[in-house]
Amino acid sequence: MALHESEAIVLQSYALGEADRLVSFLSRAAGRMRGVAAGARKPKSRFGSTLERLSYVRIWYFENPTRELVRIRQCEMIESFLDAFRDYDSSVVLSILSEVSLAVLPDHEASDANFRLLLLTAQTVKRTGKADLPLAYFALWTVKLGGWLPPLDCCGFCGVVLPEGAPVFIARSGSAVACTKCRRPGMRTISPVARSLASKMLAERLDRLSEPADAASTRAAREVTAIMLDVIEQQIDRKLTSRELLEPTA
Ligand SMILES: [Zn+2]
Repeated sequence: MALHESEAIVLQSYALGEADRLVSFLSRAAGRMRGVAAGARKPKSRFGSTLERLSYVRIWYFENPTRELVRIRQCEMIESFLDAFRDYDSSVVLSILSEVSLAVLPDHEASDANFRLLLLTAQTVKRTGKADLPLAYFALWTVKLGGWLPPLDCCGFCGVVLPEGAPVFIARSGSAVACTKCRRPGMRTISPVARSLASKMLAERLDRLSEPADAASTRAAREVTAIMLDVIEQQIDRKLTSRELLEPTA
């Protein structure tokens, strides 16, 4: 059995047997995986709080190629998100981050872009206590990195360029964006402010974007989130349970 070391983000952990934990984590070097942390539920366990959701850790684990589960030997905390989970709005967003990552990221396939996206989003929620912009950014980029985002600036049917402010429609699965003429039944509208915010988010890092300053830009962020979470749900073919905790968009 080989011993591996990586940075990782804990996505979820469950009680297993009398004293152990079953842990899903995103390894920076090896992608999403699952492992057993023996004795993690004993008082004074050497794992401490490192296995809490979204903990950013350095992890050491043994991997046996014939077994699906790795054996987690040790974890060291790099950054904890426990405090951020104590705030309700932040905790809803952080739960969505972990649920989406569990649902869309393939097993054992490293993606540095997805790793950095998850970490940067969680850190921004923790630092600012604000949820709307980070969640919109995360949902949009998850769709983009999944290869499910059509170009937002031209019609996928007739190819016409869609100028800023033009009415634009998008399929719920994200398969296409359409102009007014090519609009298909079941497509939803993207408002001009939401489309412009999405373009900005595709061009800038999250920590360089400013928080929505008024109700209209908050609505735009929520609209981007709603559209992108719909695309994700279509792609994974089920509803995200943590999404139900979000305030409904007006
Ligand atoms: Zn068209």
